[in-house]
Amino acid sequence: MKLTKMPSEFQKALPVLEKIKEAGFEAYFVGGSVRDAILNRPIHDVDIATSSYPEETKQIFPRTADIGIEHGTVLVLDGDEEYEVTTFRTEDVYVDYRRPSSVSFVRSLEEDLKRRDFTVNAFALDETGKIVDLFDGLRDLENQVLRAVGVASERFNEDALRIMRGFRFQASLGFELEQETFEAMKALTPLLDKISVERIFVEFDKLLLAPYWRVGLSSMIESQAYDYLPDMVGSQEKLQSLFDLEKDFTFESSEQAWAALLWVLEVEDAQQFLKHWKTSRQFAKQVQNLLSILALREEGELGNRDCYRFDLDLLLQAENLRRAQGKEVNPQAITETYESLTIHDKKEMQINGGILIKEYGYHPGPELGDVLEEIEYAIVDGNLDNEVEAIHAYLRERK
Ligand code: ATP
Ligand code: MG
Repeated sequence: MKLTKMPSEFQKALPVLEKIKEAGFEAYFVGGSVRDAILNRPIHDVDIATSSYPEETKQIFPRTADIGIEHGTVLVLDGDEEYEVTTFRTEDVYVDYRRPSSVSFVRSLEEDLKRRDFTVNAFALDETGKIVDLFDGLRDLENQVLRAVGVASERFNEDALRIMRGFRFQASLGFELEQETFEAMKALTPLLDKISVERIFVEFDKLLLAPYWRVGLSSMIESQAYDYLPDMVGSQEKLQSLFDLEKDFTFESSEQAWAALLWVLEVEDAQQFLKHWKTSRQFAKQVQNLLSILALREEGELGNRDCYRFDLDLLLQAENLRRAQGKEVNPQAITETYESLTIHDKKEMQINGGILIKEYGYHPGPELGDVLEEIEYAIVDGNLDNEVEAIHAYLRERK
């Protein structure tokens, strides 16, 4: 089959393919961008696979960067675009289930396509728009089926991350998992124990943010993969209550998705939970904040101090999640309260510790902190204007 119209992202990258070919090697577009082009979906990274070895690729282009040369990947800089150009490779027997024991570069496209995870991810596209489809991926695309390339159980044994990727692609494409593929995934979930948490997080996160997250999550639950994910052992029923969210709801951010997840899991210590998932501290903090807002909202309306503690964006994300939970919401009231605040951060106060020490004789220490906090809350509560004169009057009166 031929692509009737090459998307502009590919057209822009054609000179890169052509240069490699002029140097006497093969080169193709591969991976998700080809799948998405056939599906008429927007394309992100255009990846290129080639028979040239990394050192050879580097000689073809004036501007390159080594980003993963041990995996055969050279970054080619072309104008303001960059492309990952990866040598055809096979992955030999996996020893620790995490990384290939060795990567062998090969000169054959077929070998390269064989090691890819799903048939719909195993296309190659040449410079004329011809699609190389060695595993009937086109038929699977047509039938909206995710099928492992080759013998499913072998593929998931080689790299158990593919199990999570299967659920993730289900969530992004809305496809069914072909039966043998799903059976193999289900049987091999214990191998997820051996995969790095960071890589599992990436796939699970993409799953949750995808439009068909319910489909991907149902399969994940059915496979009982959660038993091999950090702090999720035996969480089938709790996970299922995510499906109680409004039917068409999709998560608007990772923070929101994970807050919803921790909410249904009834996680008490979000920081600890996310530490086990090895997320950044910043991310854990935001999820924690969202959960705090949700908890406050269970108690009633948010006051000035609540709105002061958090960013408006986060406050509204919590409100949207509540809406999806079928709860009473009032984003307008929250926005108004937030916008009525005269300061959003203590740095905006027209007073600071230095002034209190110099002009009022305070000494550095807890008392100074208490006074500053008292002023801060007086301003936030709307009882004191954030103006130098007003604050000084307040301080004089207070003495
Ligand atoms: P997305 O559109 O979300 O980027 P993608 O299909 O491009 O999806 P990537 O994770 O970017 O997925 O990987 C690019 C390609 O590399 C895949 O399409 C697949 O062919 C191959 N691939 C990536 N990870 C694996 C893996 N663990 N096992 C086998 N093949 C893989
Ligand atoms: Mg990709």
